[in-house]
Amino acid sequence: MKLIVVGAGWAGVAAAYEGARCGFDVTLIERTDMLLGTGLVGGIMRNNGRFTALEEIRAMGVHDLVNVIDQNCLHKNIDFPGHKHASLYDVNKIERAIKTLLCQSNVTIQYQTRINNVNLEDTRIKSVVSDCGETYEGDVFIDTTGTFGPMNFCSKYGNGCSMCIMRCPSFKGRVSVTGLCGIEEMQAKKKDGSIGAMSGSCKLNKDSLNKEIISRLNKEGVAIIPLPKEFIEDHLDIKACQQYALEEYKNNLILLDTGHAKLMTPFYPLEKLRQIPGFENARYIDPYTGGNGNSMRFFAIAPHENNLKVKGIENLLCAGEKAGMVGHTEAIITGILAGYNAKRIINRKALLSFSRETLVGEAIAFTNEQLQTEEGLSKKYTVSGSVLFNRLLECNLYTTDIEEIKKKIKKLDYKL
Ligand SMILES: Cc1cc2nc3c(=O)[nH]c(=O)nc-3n(C[C@H](O)[C@H](O)[C@H](O)COP(=O)(O)OP(=O)(O)OC[C@H]3O[C@@H](n4cnc5c(N)ncnc54)[C@H](O)[C@@H]3O)c2cc1C
Repeated sequence: MKLIVVGAGWAGVAAAYEGARCGFDVTLIERTDMLLGTGLVGGIMRNNGRFTALEEIRAMGVHDLVNVIDQNCLHKNIDFPGHKHASLYDVNKIERAIKTLLCQSNVTIQYQTRINNVNLEDTRIKSVVSDCGETYEGDVFIDTTGTFGPMNFCSKYGNGCSMCIMRCPSFKGRVSVTGLCGIEEMQAKKKDGSIGAMSGSCKLNKDSLNKEIISRLNKEGVAIIPLPKEFIEDHLDIKACQQYALEEYKNNLILLDTGHAKLMTPFYPLEKLRQIPGFENARYIDPYTGGNGNSMRFFAIAPHENNLKVKGIENLLCAGEKAGMVGHTEAIITGILAGYNAKRIINRKALLSFSRETLVGEAIAFTNEQLQTEEGLSKKYTVSGSVLFNRLLECNLYTTDIEEIKKKIKKLDYKL
């Protein structure tokens, strides 16, 4: 059984890991030289409903992946505006730890390989082909290529290439497997109706900040610096991560310690930033032009079932931002489900959709329903805030009671 996963962000990593657990010979194909994609500059886990989601997945049997994340956190159980009990992983260390886990799971990782063609037989993919002409045959394929850029989209719908972690000038732009199959994809919209969404945070070099801020970050994980009125910039509506589109994130500089100082705004002019006490020497390290803009995302969501099969192609699944969700945890839960359902495709069994009695099941199904509407395409879906978290609260699915979560999963008899 050969499983080909294209795109090694959190969704691809989780899908490859689960595929290997299910007995597949897995090849994970990545266009850059690192795993984790946008997860290389994120770091926030377990905030609000993400706690429940991760524990539900753990209760289903996904221990090692969750443990590696927990072991690589710099801060645990911290609160910041609108968000409770978050943990922050170390963006400088997590990639190596995940690579080790995948190698132990016998996943073959193919770096610097960009897929740009597919060979189809009716509605089945036979193989995918790289820029260099290498062909990768498989029984099942998972599209986890994300929704960022490419550069011309960042220019057309954002403030230009911001020189972000995706490094398109070197590794070339994102290419969607679903798109290559001729399936029409969905594009998310901003509140004003324009296409895409801007990534919502930047990384400052922690060492470029003053001692007091560094010490607060190291100790507490969070530093909140109120902004004088004339320094306030409003970028809330353009953010991909609508869970942080709260007034506090406009009126303050909110910094989180993820190894770097994660600044919770899409961009902030450098000259202005350097006038704020403590930031006189501030330097952006992701994106390099964090004073001017950020990467653009949500240009290519695959039409899919709640079991994550891409509509119209028999042996293609999707996960992560391709499934319309924002966040590492969201990428992981969908990646795990896609990896699990790959085996069901092989065994010709009905594919699994998580029950809506679980937070993960409701999250995937609700997001999918919303994406079918014009209004729904202008919203963003994360279990940590905004419209989806409100829904989960209404359905009484958010809990931090691990025993309660275990009982529910046991009752549903989910063993992945
Ligand atoms: C600046 C920033 C900060 C963020 N902070 C957080 C945070 O703190 N917490 C959180 O939960 N979420 C955060 N997010 C959101 C989160 O990172 C993403 O929603 C999630 O990680 C997406 O994972 P993914 O695997 O779906 O896609 P991606 O991370 O986009 O990964 C897709 C991968 O596919 C590869 N790829 C694309 N096309 C091809 C191809 N044709 N062939 C081979 N490879 C290909 C790409 O190189 C990439 O590695 C942040 C996002 C950004 C941009």
